[in-house]
Amino acid sequence: MDFSVQAEIRAESKPPEATKKFDVVIIGAGPAGYTAAIYTSRAKRETLVISGILPGGQLMLTTEVENFPGFAEGIMGPDLMTAMRKQTERMGATIIDDEVVNVDFKRSPFKILTNAEEYEADAVIIATGASPRKIGARGEQEFSAKGVSYCATCDGPFFKNQELVVAGGGDSAMEEAIFLTKFAKNVHIIHRKDKLRASKIMQDRAFENTKIKFHWNSIIEEIRGKEKVSQVTIKNVTTNQTEVMDVGGLFVAIGHEPNTKMFKGQIELDEQGYVALRNHTHTSVEGVFAAGDVHDHRYRQAITAAAFGCMAAIDVDRYLSERIK
Ligand code: NAP
Repeated sequence: MDFSVQAEIRAESKPPEATKKFDVVIIGAGPAGYTAAIYTSRAKRETLVISGILPGGQLMLTTEVENFPGFAEGIMGPDLMTAMRKQTERMGATIIDDEVVNVDFKRSPFKILTNAEEYEADAVIIATGASPRKIGARGEQEFSAKGVSYCATCDGPFFKNQELVVAGGGDSAMEEAIFLTKFAKNVHIIHRKDKLRASKIMQDRAFENTKIKFHWNSIIEEIRGKEKVSQVTIKNVTTNQTEVMDVGGLFVAIGHEPNTKMFKGQIELDEQGYVALRNHTHTSVEGVFAAGDVHDHRYRQAITAAAFGCMAAIDVDRYLSERIK
Protein backbone atom coordinates (compact mmCIF):
# COMPACT_ATOMS: atom_id res chain seq x y z
CA MET A 1 0.00 0.00 0.00
CA ASP A 2 1.31 3.44 -0.84
CA PHE A 3 0.88 5.23 2.49
CA SER A 4 2.41 8.47 1.19
CA VAL A 5 -0.41 8.78 -1.36
CA GLN A 6 -2.97 8.15 1.37
CA ALA A 7 -1.33 10.70 3.66
CA GLU A 8 -1.39 13.26 0.84
CA ILE A 9 -5.07 12.52 0.22
CA ARG A 10 -5.92 12.85 3.92
CA ALA A 11 -4.07 16.17 4.21
CA GLU A 12 -6.07 17.56 1.29
CA SER A 13 -9.51 16.53 2.62
CA LYS A 14 -11.92 19.20 3.91
CA PRO A 15 -13.14 19.34 7.51
CA PRO A 16 -16.79 18.42 8.11
CA GLU A 17 -19.52 21.03 7.57
CA ALA A 18 -21.02 22.60 10.69
CA THR A 19 -24.30 20.75 10.14
CA LYS A 20 -24.22 16.98 10.47
CA LYS A 21 -27.39 16.38 8.46
CA PHE A 22 -26.94 15.64 4.74
CA ASP A 23 -29.26 14.86 1.86
CA VAL A 24 -27.19 11.78 1.14
CA VAL A 25 -24.41 10.01 2.96
CA ILE A 26 -22.23 7.68 0.88
CA ILE A 27 -20.36 5.03 2.83
CA GLY A 28 -17.19 4.02 1.01
CA ALA A 29 -14.77 5.81 -1.28
CA GLY A 30 -13.85 3.46 -4.08
CA PRO A 31 -14.96 3.99 -7.70
CA ALA A 32 -18.62 3.34 -6.73
CA GLY A 33 -18.65 5.81 -3.82
CA TYR A 34 -16.80 8.61 -5.62
CA THR A 35 -18.88 8.27 -8.78
CA ALA A 36 -22.11 8.31 -6.76
CA ALA A 37 -20.91 11.45 -4.94
CA ILE A 38 -19.99 13.20 -8.19
CA TYR A 39 -23.52 12.60 -9.48
CA THR A 40 -25.42 13.50 -6.27
CA SER A 41 -23.34 16.67 -5.72
CA ARG A 42 -23.86 17.76 -9.32
CA ALA A 43 -27.58 17.21 -8.78
CA LYS A 44 -27.33 19.74 -5.88
CA ARG A 45 -27.85 17.14 -3.18
CA GLU A 46 -25.74 17.92 -0.14
CA THR A 47 -23.42 14.94 -0.04
CA LEU A 48 -21.11 13.45 2.56
CA VAL A 49 -18.68 10.65 1.67
CA ILE A 50 -17.31 8.65 4.59
CA SER A 51 -14.23 7.06 3.15
CA GLY A 52 -13.48 4.25 5.61
CA ILE A 53 -10.06 2.93 6.52
CA LEU A 54 -8.81 2.51 2.95
CA PRO A 55 -9.82 5.69 1.04
CA GLY A 56 -9.77 4.81 -2.65
CA GLY A 57 -10.58 1.15 -2.05
CA GLN A 58 -8.92 -1.79 -3.75
CA LEU A 59 -7.31 0.32 -6.50
CA MET A 60 -5.03 1.86 -3.85
CA LEU A 61 -3.40 -1.59 -3.66
CA THR A 62 -2.92 -1.90 -7.42
CA THR A 63 -0.16 -0.68 -9.68
CA GLU A 64 -1.01 -0.02 -13.33
CA VAL A 65 -4.63 0.06 -14.52
CA GLU A 66 -4.89 -0.45 -18.29
CA ASN A 67 -8.59 -1.13 -18.71
CA PHE A 68 -10.24 2.00 -17.28
CA PRO A 69 -11.39 3.90 -20.37
CA GLY A 70 -10.01 7.39 -20.93
CA PHE A 71 -6.36 6.70 -20.11
CA ALA A 72 -4.67 5.79 -23.38
CA GLU A 73 -1.32 5.09 -21.69
CA GLY A 74 -2.85 3.44 -18.57
CA ILE A 75 -2.84 4.99 -15.09
CA MET A 76 -1.57 3.91 -11.68
CA GLY A 77 -4.43 2.78 -9.38
CA PRO A 78 -3.66 5.33 -6.59
CA ASP A 79 -3.41 8.15 -9.18
CA LEU A 80 -6.82 7.22 -10.59
CA MET A 81 -8.36 7.29 -7.13
CA THR A 82 -6.68 10.60 -6.23
CA ALA A 83 -8.17 12.09 -9.41
CA MET A 84 -11.63 10.70 -8.57
CA ARG A 85 -11.37 12.18 -5.09
CA LYS A 86 -10.39 15.62 -6.39
CA GLN A 87 -13.25 15.52 -8.90
CA THR A 88 -15.67 14.56 -6.10
CA GLU A 89 -14.50 17.52 -3.99
CA ARG A 90 -14.69 19.89 -6.96
CA MET A 91 -18.35 18.93 -7.38
CA GLY A 92 -18.93 20.09 -3.79
CA ALA A 93 -19.12 16.85 -1.77
CA THR A 94 -17.63 16.70 1.72
CA ILE A 95 -15.27 13.79 2.30
CA ILE A 96 -14.48 12.51 5.79
CA ASP A 97 -11.65 10.00 6.34
CA ASP A 98 -13.34 8.13 9.13
CA GLU A 99 -14.74 4.66 9.64
CA VAL A 100 -18.46 3.91 10.05
CA VAL A 101 -18.94 1.84 13.19
CA ASN A 102 -22.74 1.64 13.34
CA VAL A 103 -25.86 2.61 11.40
CA ASP A 104 -29.54 2.95 12.22
CA PHE A 105 -31.72 2.50 9.14
CA LYS A 106 -34.88 1.76 11.18
CA ARG A 107 -36.32 5.24 10.60
CA SER A 108 -35.60 8.27 8.44
CA PRO A 109 -33.54 10.39 8.70
CA PHE A 110 -31.05 7.55 8.88
CA LYS A 111 -28.23 7.68 11.43
CA ILE A 112 -24.62 6.88 10.61
CA LEU A 113 -22.13 6.71 13.46
CA THR A 114 -18.38 7.02 12.81
CA ASN A 115 -15.48 6.84 15.24
CA ALA A 116 -15.70 10.63 15.63
CA GLU A 117 -19.25 11.83 14.83
CA GLU A 118 -22.87 10.97 14.22
CA TYR A 119 -24.44 12.00 10.91
CA GLU A 120 -28.01 12.00 9.62
CA ALA A 121 -29.14 11.49 6.04
CA ASP A 122 -32.37 11.35 4.06
CA ALA A 123 -30.73 8.77 1.78
CA VAL A 124 -27.73 6.48 2.07
CA ILE A 125 -25.62 4.76 -0.58
CA ILE A 126 -23.64 1.77 0.65
CA ALA A 127 -20.45 1.46 -1.41
CA THR A 128 -18.18 -0.39 1.00
CA GLY A 129 -16.95 -2.95 -1.53
CA ALA A 130 -15.60 -6.42 -0.89
CA SER A 131 -12.19 -7.66 0.15
CA PRO A 132 -10.47 -10.60 -1.51
CA ARG A 133 -9.72 -13.46 0.87
CA LYS A 134 -6.03 -13.97 1.55
CA ILE A 135 -4.28 -17.35 1.53
CA GLY A 136 -2.13 -16.39 4.52
CA ALA A 137 1.18 -17.47 2.95
CA ARG A 138 4.44 -15.92 4.09
CA GLY A 139 5.27 -13.04 1.75
CA GLU A 140 1.68 -12.57 0.53
CA GLN A 141 1.36 -9.01 1.78
CA GLU A 142 4.95 -8.05 0.89
CA PHE A 143 4.46 -9.08 -2.76
CA SER A 144 0.90 -7.79 -3.15
CA ALA A 145 0.84 -5.87 -6.48
CA LYS A 146 4.41 -7.11 -7.04
CA GLY A 147 3.43 -10.41 -8.61
CA VAL A 148 0.64 -11.35 -6.19
CA SER A 149 -2.72 -10.36 -7.64
CA TYR A 150 -6.36 -10.86 -6.69
CA CYS A 151 -7.78 -10.08 -10.15
CA ALA A 152 -6.74 -11.87 -13.36
CA THR A 153 -8.86 -9.59 -15.56
CA CYS A 154 -7.00 -6.59 -14.12
CA ASP A 155 -3.44 -7.93 -14.11
CA GLY A 156 -3.28 -10.99 -16.41
CA PRO A 157 -1.97 -9.11 -19.48
CA PHE A 158 1.13 -8.03 -17.50
CA PHE A 159 2.27 -11.66 -17.24
CA LYS A 160 2.93 -12.66 -20.86
CA ASN A 161 4.69 -15.98 -21.45
CA GLN A 162 5.32 -16.68 -17.76
CA GLU A 163 4.70 -19.62 -15.43
CA LEU A 164 1.76 -18.60 -13.24
CA VAL A 165 0.10 -20.03 -10.17
CA VAL A 166 -3.59 -19.77 -9.25
CA ALA A 167 -4.73 -20.60 -5.70
CA GLY A 168 -8.27 -21.96 -5.26
CA GLY A 169 -10.67 -24.65 -6.43
CA GLY A 170 -13.92 -22.74 -7.07
CA ASP A 171 -15.45 -21.21 -10.18
CA SER A 172 -13.37 -18.04 -9.79
CA ALA A 173 -10.11 -20.01 -9.74
CA MET A 174 -11.12 -21.97 -12.89
CA GLU A 175 -12.26 -18.82 -14.68
CA GLU A 176 -9.10 -16.92 -13.77
CA ALA A 177 -6.84 -19.84 -14.72
CA ILE A 178 -8.54 -20.25 -18.11
CA PHE A 179 -8.31 -16.50 -18.75
CA LEU A 180 -4.62 -16.47 -17.78
CA THR A 181 -3.77 -19.20 -20.33
CA LYS A 182 -4.20 -16.51 -23.01
CA PHE A 183 -1.00 -14.91 -21.73
CA ALA A 184 0.88 -17.43 -19.61
CA LYS A 185 3.22 -20.22 -20.65
CA ASN A 186 1.52 -22.51 -18.11
CA VAL A 187 -0.94 -22.02 -15.26
CA HIS A 188 -0.59 -24.16 -12.13
CA ILE A 189 -3.75 -24.49 -10.03
CA ILE A 190 -2.92 -25.12 -6.38
CA HIS A 191 -5.89 -26.56 -4.52
CA ARG A 192 -6.00 -27.69 -0.89
CA LYS A 193 -8.30 -30.66 -1.60
CA ASP A 194 -8.34 -33.57 -4.08
CA LYS A 195 -11.48 -32.33 -5.82
CA LEU A 196 -12.75 -29.01 -7.04
CA ARG A 197 -15.67 -27.00 -5.71
CA ALA A 198 -16.16 -25.41 -9.16
CA SER A 199 -19.21 -26.23 -11.32
CA LYS A 200 -18.87 -29.21 -13.69
CA ILE A 201 -18.76 -27.04 -16.79
CA MET A 202 -15.91 -24.90 -15.41
CA GLN A 203 -14.03 -28.01 -14.24
CA ASP A 204 -14.35 -29.57 -17.69
CA ARG A 205 -13.07 -26.44 -19.38
CA ALA A 206 -10.08 -26.30 -17.05
CA PHE A 207 -9.31 -30.03 -17.45
CA GLU A 208 -9.45 -29.71 -21.25
CA ASN A 209 -6.98 -26.81 -21.30
CA THR A 210 -3.52 -28.22 -21.94
CA LYS A 211 -1.79 -25.19 -20.39
CA ILE A 212 -3.41 -25.84 -16.99
CA LYS A 213 -1.70 -28.22 -14.51
CA PHE A 214 -3.33 -29.27 -11.24
CA HIS A 215 -1.54 -29.66 -7.92
CA TRP A 216 -3.95 -31.45 -5.56
CA ASN A 217 -3.99 -31.42 -1.75
CA SER A 218 -1.56 -28.54 -1.85
CA ILE A 219 -1.19 -25.14 -0.26
CA ILE A 220 1.17 -22.24 -0.89
CA GLU A 221 3.43 -21.85 2.11
CA GLU A 222 5.75 -19.06 1.05
CA ILE A 223 6.16 -16.46 -1.70
CA ARG A 224 9.65 -15.23 -2.45
CA GLY A 225 11.42 -12.85 -4.80
CA LYS A 226 13.44 -9.65 -4.94
CA GLU A 227 11.47 -6.77 -6.41
CA LYS A 228 8.72 -9.09 -7.56
CA VAL A 229 7.64 -12.69 -7.12
CA SER A 230 10.04 -15.27 -8.53
CA GLN A 231 9.30 -18.41 -6.47
CA VAL A 232 6.56 -20.06 -4.45
CA THR A 233 6.91 -22.94 -2.02
CA ILE A 234 4.08 -25.46 -2.31
CA LYS A 235 3.34 -27.99 0.37
CA ASN A 236 1.41 -31.22 -0.17
CA VAL A 237 -0.79 -31.46 2.93
CA THR A 238 -1.13 -35.27 2.74
CA THR A 239 2.59 -36.09 2.35
CA ASN A 240 4.01 -32.89 3.96
CA GLN A 241 6.48 -32.69 1.05
CA THR A 242 7.41 -29.24 -0.19
CA GLU A 243 8.34 -28.12 -3.70
CA VAL A 244 9.81 -24.79 -4.82
CA MET A 245 8.44 -23.54 -8.15
CA ASP A 246 9.90 -20.75 -10.29
CA VAL A 247 6.95 -18.54 -11.21
CA GLY A 248 6.30 -15.05 -12.53
CA GLY A 249 3.13 -14.44 -10.58
CA LEU A 250 0.48 -15.76 -8.22
CA PHE A 251 -3.25 -15.15 -8.58
CA VAL A 252 -5.30 -15.72 -5.44
CA ALA A 253 -8.90 -16.71 -6.27
CA ILE A 254 -10.37 -18.11 -3.06
CA GLY A 255 -13.41 -15.85 -2.82
CA HIS A 256 -14.28 -12.40 -1.52
CA GLU A 257 -15.78 -11.09 1.73
CA PRO A 258 -18.30 -8.29 1.23
CA ASN A 259 -17.78 -5.44 3.70
CA THR A 260 -21.27 -5.60 5.18
CA LYS A 261 -20.80 -6.60 8.83
CA MET A 262 -22.11 -3.27 10.12
CA PHE A 263 -25.33 -3.61 8.04
CA LYS A 264 -26.41 -7.01 9.45
CA GLY A 265 -29.90 -6.72 10.88
CA GLN A 266 -30.43 -3.34 9.16
CA ILE A 267 -30.87 -4.39 5.51
CA GLU A 268 -31.33 -7.70 3.74
CA LEU A 269 -28.12 -9.50 2.84
CA ASP A 270 -27.88 -12.63 0.71
CA GLU A 271 -26.57 -15.94 2.06
CA GLN A 272 -22.97 -14.94 1.24
CA GLY A 273 -23.34 -11.59 3.01
CA TYR A 274 -23.65 -9.38 -0.11
CA VAL A 275 -26.31 -6.64 -0.09
CA ALA A 276 -29.49 -8.01 -1.67
CA LEU A 277 -30.85 -5.55 -4.23
CA ARG A 278 -34.37 -5.12 -5.57
CA ASN A 279 -35.53 -2.69 -8.22
CA HIS A 280 -32.08 -1.76 -9.56
CA THR A 281 -29.99 -0.18 -6.73
CA HIS A 282 -32.63 -0.17 -3.95
CA THR A 283 -32.00 -2.27 -0.83
CA SER A 284 -34.72 -3.74 1.42
CA VAL A 285 -34.95 -0.36 3.23
CA GLU A 286 -36.56 2.48 1.33
CA GLY A 287 -34.03 5.32 1.03
CA VAL A 288 -30.97 3.04 1.41
CA PHE A 289 -29.20 2.11 -1.83
CA ALA A 290 -26.09 0.08 -2.68
CA ALA A 291 -23.48 0.28 -5.42
CA GLY A 292 -20.43 -1.71 -6.50
CA ASP A 293 -18.70 -4.85 -5.23
CA VAL A 294 -20.73 -4.77 -1.99
CA HIS A 295 -23.62 -6.27 -3.99
CA ASP A 296 -21.96 -7.27 -7.27
CA HIS A 297 -19.97 -10.49 -7.07
CA ARG A 298 -20.16 -11.10 -10.81
CA TYR A 299 -18.17 -8.31 -12.49
CA ARG A 300 -16.02 -6.74 -9.73
CA GLN A 301 -14.37 -4.15 -11.98
CA ALA A 302 -13.58 -0.51 -11.25
CA ILE A 303 -15.61 0.55 -14.26
CA THR A 304 -18.66 -1.54 -13.29
CA ALA A 305 -18.46 -0.28 -9.69
CA ALA A 306 -18.34 3.30 -11.02
CA ALA A 307 -21.33 2.56 -13.24
CA PHE A 308 -23.31 1.18 -10.28
CA GLY A 309 -22.37 4.34 -8.34
CA CYS A 310 -23.86 6.46 -11.11
CA MET A 311 -27.04 4.35 -11.12
CA ALA A 312 -27.46 4.55 -7.32
CA ALA A 313 -26.99 8.34 -7.41
CA ILE A 314 -29.67 8.74 -10.08
CA ASP A 315 -32.01 6.50 -8.02
CA VAL A 316 -31.26 8.58 -4.90
CA ASP A 317 -32.03 11.82 -6.73
CA ARG A 318 -35.36 10.42 -7.93
CA TYR A 319 -36.16 9.07 -4.46
CA LEU A 320 -35.44 12.44 -2.82
CA SER A 321 -37.47 14.32 -5.45
CA GLU A 322 -40.47 12.04 -5.02
CA ARG A 323 -40.41 11.41 -1.28
CA ILE A 324 -38.65 14.21 0.53
CA LYS A 325 -38.37 17.43 -1.50
P1 NAP B 1 -15.91 -20.21 -3.67
O1 NAP B 1 -16.91 -20.91 -4.52
O2 NAP B 1 -16.23 -19.94 -2.25
O3 NAP B 1 -14.56 -21.08 -3.77
C1 NAP B 1 -13.45 -20.73 -3.01
C2 NAP B 1 -12.35 -21.76 -3.26
O4 NAP B 1 -11.20 -21.32 -2.55
C3 NAP B 1 -12.70 -23.15 -2.74
O5 NAP B 1 -12.18 -24.11 -3.61
C4 NAP B 1 -11.99 -23.19 -1.39
O6 NAP B 1 -11.50 -24.46 -1.05
C5 NAP B 1 -10.79 -22.32 -1.64
N1 NAP B 1 -10.33 -21.67 -0.41
C6 NAP B 1 -11.07 -20.94 0.48
N2 NAP B 1 -10.30 -20.48 1.46
C7 NAP B 1 -9.04 -20.94 1.22
C8 NAP B 1 -7.79 -20.80 1.87
N3 NAP B 1 -7.66 -20.07 2.99
N4 NAP B 1 -6.71 -21.39 1.33
C9 NAP B 1 -6.82 -22.11 0.18
N5 NAP B 1 -7.97 -22.28 -0.49
C10 NAP B 1 -9.07 -21.70 0.02
O7 NAP B 1 -15.50 -18.77 -4.27
P2 NAP B 1 -15.43 -18.29 -5.80
O8 NAP B 1 -14.76 -19.31 -6.65
O9 NAP B 1 -14.87 -16.91 -5.77
O10 NAP B 1 -16.95 -18.19 -6.24
C11 NAP B 1 -17.88 -17.37 -5.51
C12 NAP B 1 -19.29 -17.54 -6.15
O11 NAP B 1 -19.30 -16.94 -7.46
C13 NAP B 1 -19.67 -18.99 -6.33
O12 NAP B 1 -21.04 -19.12 -6.13
C14 NAP B 1 -19.34 -19.28 -7.78
O13 NAP B 1 -20.08 -20.32 -8.34
C15 NAP B 1 -19.64 -17.92 -8.43
N6 NAP B 1 -18.82 -17.74 -9.65
C16 NAP B 1 -19.27 -18.27 -10.84
C17 NAP B 1 -18.51 -18.15 -12.00
C18 NAP B 1 -18.98 -18.77 -13.27
O14 NAP B 1 -19.95 -19.50 -13.23
N7 NAP B 1 -18.36 -18.50 -14.37
C19 NAP B 1 -17.27 -17.51 -11.95
C20 NAP B 1 -16.81 -17.00 -10.73
C21 NAP B 1 -17.60 -17.13 -9.59
P3 NAP B 1 -12.48 -25.67 -0.60
O15 NAP B 1 -13.11 -26.16 -1.86
O16 NAP B 1 -11.52 -26.61 0.02
O17 NAP B 1 -13.47 -25.08 0.38
